[in-house]
Amino acid sequence: MTTFSNVTVLGAGVLGAQIAFQIANHGVAVNSYDVDDDAIAAARGRLTSLVEQYTGDVGEAHRAAAQTAAGRISFFTDLAAAVADADLVIEAVPENLELKRDIYARLAVAAPPHTVFATNSSTLLPSQIMDSTGRPDRFLALHFANHIWRQNTAEIMGTDQTSPEVFQRVVAFAEDIGMVPIPLHKEQPGYVLNSLLVPFLAAGAGLVLTGVADPETVDKTWRIGTGAPAGPFQIFDVVGLRTAHAISAASDDPGSRMWADYLEANYISQGKLGVESGEGFYKY
Ligand code: NAD
Repeated sequence: MTTFSNVTVLGAGVLGAQIAFQIANHGVAVNSYDVDDDAIAAARGRLTSLVEQYTGDVGEAHRAAAQTAAGRISFFTDLAAAVADADLVIEAVPENLELKRDIYARLAVAAPPHTVFATNSSTLLPSQIMDSTGRPDRFLALHFANHIWRQNTAEIMGTDQTSPEVFQRVVAFAEDIGMVPIPLHKEQPGYVLNSLLVPFLAAGAGLVLTGVADPETVDKTWRIGTGAPAGPFQIFDVVGLRTAHAISAASDDPGSRMWADYLEANYISQGKLGVESGEGFYKY
């Protein structure tokens, strides 16, 4: 028995599909909502790939259970039907403030009064969204990472209006579904992980851009000096250079934009996208 029995996930994209799968894989039936039939067809395909990826990671012995889990997910294009019995709604729609505020305004009307809402937003603060939810005391962020069953942190971040009891229930639910809960005591852009990771990667990029050292030397220094398994450029390759480029290109900081141009000119334009393409800063 999990802390929340009826769970709906809004958005069945990269993260929404993984969140639905992770929850279903812990025995809970999940409603998955997306905008139209095409989006649902894409989500079904994503789920099939997730079962493959998951069994590839954890072993063939888990295939049948993963397929059963996928079967616990029901798809909806009608928001009211998707959330009619929801105890918890996890929102993973695109990272756009207006779009998120719009969906919460509709959700506020469609969901029962007791339903808790959680956003998976990576960069928006829940306080930017809370007044559109109609229930700021039952709203907070529950932030998962890509490759959810392996990178299994769940960062939980409320606003000053989130009820402490709701916060604790979401922490308990994260544990129920196999995550390591990371409770934050206050709002912080980037949560804990990206507050550490983003400046770390930027510092590595700065050393290369200014010609101080090459990527291999930077990574080797970090590994030997700290005992960490990977340096910044090994991490860039795992994140994917397209994602790194998109984040840097969108920044106001001129150094970040220089880094985006550097990635484009030296790697992305040559098809070197990181681990996913077999080559980035390193060959795989
Ligand atoms: P995505 O583009 O892969 O998926 C978004 C999904 O939302 C799509 O299926 C789209 O059809 C659907 N959608 C669009 N408008 C909608 C609406 N009005 N109602 C319901 N569904 C709608 O995006 P993603 O990468 O899964 O990101 C979703 C959220 O998760 C974002 O807030 C992002 O910051 C966060 N996040 C992403 C990652 C990541 O690595 N991709 C990691 C952590 C958190």
